[in-house]
Amino acid sequence: MITGKINVVEGDITQLSVDSIVNAANTSLLGGGGVDGAIHRAAGPGLLAECRGLNGCETGDAKITQGYNLPADWVIHTVGPVWRDGNHGEDALLASCYYRSLELAEQNNIRSIAFPAISTGAYRFPPERAARIAVGTVKQVLEGNTTIDQVIFVCFSQPSYNYHRQAVEDTITNKG
Ligand code: ADP
Repeated sequence: MITGKINVVEGDITQLSVDSIVNAANTSLLGGGGVDGAIHRAAGPGLLAECRGLNGCETGDAKITQGYNLPADWVIHTVGPVWRDGNHGEDALLASCYYRSLELAEQNNIRSIAFPAISTGAYRFPPERAARIAVGTVKQVLEGNTTIDQVIFVCFSQPSYNYHRQAVEDTITNKG
């Protein structure tokens, strides 16, 4: 059963004491608004300094840094797609963000990981569709042979929370 490994909460991801939080970054990895800005503010300047050495990140890919002043030990920076019309590979790129983040987590012996709703802010991905992709992708990974034992979806609004809860109910709870 993977139900016990997935949690949905409403809150600020910078406050979470997990092995790793995920940042919805941009391709420069040099900071931005939204959750990216909040993570850099909470982590302190060490994070930006390490990010400068990473040479950016492609859309759909992920890179890892330390967590500096955050309660989390690590930050996995992933770059979600900018929503255009749904016909430019947006779904697959978003799924890839979750896959690559979880792959990096496994490679670094991370057992607990918290995700924000990647691409659903400034990048305008429809939030219900994004929640279904997020939950579906995490489910696939957790069903495989993985060392990850806790995945938390950290939602920044009540609607986002509801979309994720519904997606968990539809894709996991009702189907085992
Ligand atoms: P993107 O550019 O990928 O759309 P944003 O940061 O603009 O990234 O938004 C991604 C999601 O993160 C949005 O749902 C936004 O409401 C949410 N968010 C913003 N700040 C935080 C935070 N401190 N903790 C968790 N989620 C956050």
